[in-house]
Amino acid sequence: MKFLSTRGQTPALGFSDAVATGLAPDGGLFLPETLPDFSGQLAAFEKLSYAELCFEFMRVFATDIPAETLRSIVVASYTKFADPAIAPLKPLGKNLYVLELFHGPTLAFKDFALQLLGNLYAHQCVVRRETINVLGATSGDTGAAAIHGLLGKPGTAIFILYPDGRVSPLQERQMACTGAENVFALAVDGSFDDAQAALKEIFSDQSFRTRHRLSAVNSINLARVLAQCVYYLYAWLRLPPSERGNVEFVVPTGNFGNVLAGWLLQQMGVPIRGFKVATNQNDILYRLFTTGEYRVGDVRPSLAPSMDIQVASNFERFIYFNVGRDPARVREVMQTFKTTGAYTFPNFNRETFSASRTSDAEIASIITRVHRDYGYIADPHTACGFKEPNPDRVSIVLATASPAKFPETIRAAIGREPTHPSLEALKSRAIKKHLLPATPSAIRAFVDQHAVSR
Ligand SMILES: *Cc1c(COP(=O)(O)O)cnc(C)c1O
Repeated sequence: MKFLSTRGQTPALGFSDAVATGLAPDGGLFLPETLPDFSGQLAAFEKLSYAELCFEFMRVFATDIPAETLRSIVVASYTKFADPAIAPLKPLGKNLYVLELFHGPTLAFKDFALQLLGNLYAHQCVVRRETINVLGATSGDTGAAAIHGLLGKPGTAIFILYPDGRVSPLQERQMACTGAENVFALAVDGSFDDAQAALKEIFSDQSFRTRHRLSAVNSINLARVLAQCVYYLYAWLRLPPSERGNVEFVVPTGNFGNVLAGWLLQQMGVPIRGFKVATNQNDILYRLFTTGEYRVGDVRPSLAPSMDIQVASNFERFIYFNVGRDPARVREVMQTFKTTGAYTFPNFNRETFSASRTSDAEIASIITRVHRDYGYIADPHTACGFKEPNPDRVSIVLATASPAKFPETIRAAIGREPTHPSLEALKSRAIKKHLLPATPSAIRAFVDQHAVSR
C-alpha cells in the first residue's frame, strides 16, 4: 500500500518511508492511498487477542514489512501492558461503558501508538543498518510515552525537552528515572513554547538533521494514527451484537488525533454510529463541531493539561476527506487558516459528530459524580468524556489516562488519592536530567555530544 500527502506535492511513499518521514516535505500529512474495507472480516476478527487483531489490521497497511516480522513487532509492542485484555472494556451502567487505555508503561493512551512506533523505528535501524536519534519537546505525556517506546532499543537515542519545573513531578520521573543509557531528559530553562521554538529551528537545519538522522515523534505520524484505530475496533467487537449498531465513542481530545483514528475506522467499514468530541475549556474543536468554524484561541491551562492545545494538528487529515480528497483545496484551507486564524466549513456532517466542552469546575464535579454513581475514578481528561452521555446511544467513553497520574485533582474531588504500583516505584528512583538553556545552540551541542551513530 502507498501513502499520499494531504497536500498532494509529495510522491507516494511506502509504509516504512511514510513512518520514517513523519511530516511530509510539502507540509502535509500522510494518508493511505485508498481506505481498505474491513466489513467482511468483522466476524473473523471477533476471536482475536488484542495483539493479533492489531497485526491483522496493520498488515493491510504495512505491506513493505514481511508478515512474520510485522507480527513479532506488533506482539512485542503490547507486552508491557499490565491488563491481559490490553484495552479492557468495562460496563458502568445502562448504555454506558468505559474503554481503559491506560494500562501501558506510562499509564496513558499514547503508549498504544508509541510502543509500536518505537519498535518500528528499531526494526528500521536493523534492516537499513542505520541509527536514529529522536528529538522532541513535551509538556508531559507524549515525551514519557515516546521515551518508553524507545527505552534501551539498540541503534536509537531519544532526547526529550521539557520546561523545567513545569511538568508534574510524576511526569518528570517517568522521563528522568528510566535508567536507560539511550534516554536523555532535557529540562530546559524556559516554557514549553520556548522549547518548541528551539526545536523548530533545529529541525529546519537540514545538514544537522541528516548528520544525526534526526526524527520527531509528533502526534501526526501515520503509524500513531493507524495504531489508534485498533482499540476502537477491539472495543466494538467486545459489545453484544444488539448494541453494535448504536455506538457513540466519546473521545477526550485536543489534537483530534484520537477521534480521527476512530473516524477512519468507521470509513473502513466498521458500523460505528458516531463520535463525541469531548474538549476541556480549550474548545477549538467544540466550536468547530457546533458552528462549523475552526478558529484558534488562546490556550488556558486546565486540569486536563494534555488537552490544552490551540491547533488540532491532525485535523488536516479530516479536512482532506471533507473537501473531497482534493489536495489543492486542502492547501487553500490551510493557507486561509494560516493567514486569518480561521476557516468556516460549508458542509459539516452533524450525523456523525457531536461535541462537548467541560470547564475545570465541571471536571471536578464530574469526577465526584462518576465516583458516587458508578464507584469509578475517572482522571481529569476522561472526566470530560462523562459530561452528558447521549441517552439514545450506547456510549463508550475512552479513558485516556490513569487517575493515579493526577493525585491532587482526584483527592480534591473524592477525598482520597488513587495510587499505582508503577508510580510508587518511581518515587524511590534517582532522577537523571540535564539542565539546558532553551536555545538551539545549547541543544544542538548536547545532541552532537550524545547522539548515536555507526
Ligand atoms: C494526549 C492526551 C489526550 C489528547 O489526545 P489527542 O491526540 O489530542 O486527541 C487526552 N488525554 C490524555 C491523557 C492524553 O495524554
